[in-house]
Amino acid sequence: MTHLWWARRDLRLDDNPALLSAQEGSPAAAVFAWTPALHFWSGRRRAHLARVLWSLREDTGGALAVRRGEAADAVLAAARQADATAVWASQEYTPSGVREQKHVAAALEADGRELRMIGSPYAVAPGRVTKGDGTPYRVFTPYRGAWREHGWRSPAAPADADAFVRLPRDSADADLDQIAAHADAEDPLERTEEFRERRVREDLEAFVDDRVEHYGDERDRPDLDSTSRLSSALAFGLVHPRTVLALTGAVDHPAARTFESEIAWREFHADTLWHEPQARRESLSTVVLEDDWATGAEADAAFVAWRDGRTGFPLVDAGMRQLASTGWMHNRVRMVVASFLVKDLHLPWQRGADYFRRALVDYDHAQNQLNWQWVAGTGRDASPYFRVFNPETQAGKFDPHRRYVERWVPELDTPAYPAPMVDHKVERERALELNRRAKARVQR
Ligand SMILES: Cc1cc2nc3c(=O)[nH]c(=O)nc-3n(C[C@H](O)[C@H](O)[C@H](O)COP(=O)(O)OP(=O)(O)OC[C@H]3O[C@@H](n4cnc5c(N)ncnc54)[C@H](O)[C@@H]3O)c2cc1C
Repeated sequence: MTHLWWARRDLRLDDNPALLSAQEGSPAAAVFAWTPALHFWSGRRRAHLARVLWSLREDTGGALAVRRGEAADAVLAAARQADATAVWASQEYTPSGVREQKHVAAALEADGRELRMIGSPYAVAPGRVTKGDGTPYRVFTPYRGAWREHGWRSPAAPADADAFVRLPRDSADADLDQIAAHADAEDPLERTEEFRERRVREDLEAFVDDRVEHYGDERDRPDLDSTSRLSSALAFGLVHPRTVLALTGAVDHPAARTFESEIAWREFHADTLWHEPQARRESLSTVVLEDDWATGAEADAAFVAWRDGRTGFPLVDAGMRQLASTGWMHNRVRMVVASFLVKDLHLPWQRGADYFRRALVDYDHAQNQLNWQWVAGTGRDASPYFRVFNPETQAGKFDPHRRYVERWVPELDTPAYPAPMVDHKVERERALELNRRAKARVQR
């Protein structure tokens, strides 16, 4: 009898309890469901996923099957082919991930099989850390304290790359080369190295050895290469945060604790979405009345100028162009562009979050929606709405030599560069006024 590993957002062999369990006492078959939902992803992110899967398939000696179809259909068909009564998978906590695993469990059960879930994409699974009275933490700092105290296991042993069995070829097999080629102009089989788990591990070790000590002072500087660039690896599960924390935990330097705090934010946001699934679309608190958000043709034009990096505010434009060109944006700049959309252009955060979903390679539902809510002042323990980022001051502080803006906005000091599309001072006042109105109405 064979077991089946249903690969999800855990596309790695190392420190993977679900895969390890699937291999216990029997070789394992492996399947990833290429679901219709992936059509809503950007071409770039789909190409990235195709390359990650391509690399993982190689690392499993060709055993990983990538099947088109809903997860319930793809996993059930694979389980039948493998003659597997038990299917192992890592547990998801987002609304869509939870729905998906329910469907898979039901389909397997109706066929006399069983879905066994072990592990999650987090060091401490959402819902695990609560206040003394059992309710979730709403404030980050005490959450982080309790999260640290709860602690996490040491990384699990690596899976056996030779203990896989291959599923037979199937008409639902996805052609990864073709997907990558369609979605991205680059040769899909070029640069496969950087999509590999091994490479992520090497980069992580280099970051921890050489750069983490500077993280505390330099992480807010988009002109410096000072952050880990781990976000897409974490989003696709090429590395588990537990592995990251095991490495940084050995570094006796305050900057390593600052870095771990960012991982804690990742877990806090996932915890928030788990407890309040409506946070995926709805503001958790009201900062501006629904009818007061900008709509209509002018608002649409403002959105397009923001999206295309033509606002006339260099740091905002540099960030939006970095995002469009690479699929990644520095965290400080993400905060500045998000604040600009919500508080200078008065557009609802959901509009910006939707564009980020299409543009980011490291897109992660919980992180994106809750970070947008944080900037908009609507989330749990969010930045207060009245704290409005001034894009010019932010640029002077965090890009002091203008290297970042000059890199992404080469026409900066030429007549080709647009004048600022709004007067920041005026829009700041308007944002505060809208907020006062909302407060007055909500309190009434
Ligand atoms: C509006 C907005 C949208 C965002 N959308 C996403 C998203 O879709 N996916 C995503 O992974 N991150 C998102 N972030 C968080 C953050 O910007 C990125 O995780 C970070 O820039 C990734 O670069 P890095 O790996 O070099 O980060 P580092 O600074 O090296 O941090 C290490 C890791 O900690 C986590 N982390 C860092 N900052 C945050 C944060 N503010 N919230 C949660 N986790 C964090 C990430 O997993 C990151 O990889 C968003 C932030 C904002 C303000």
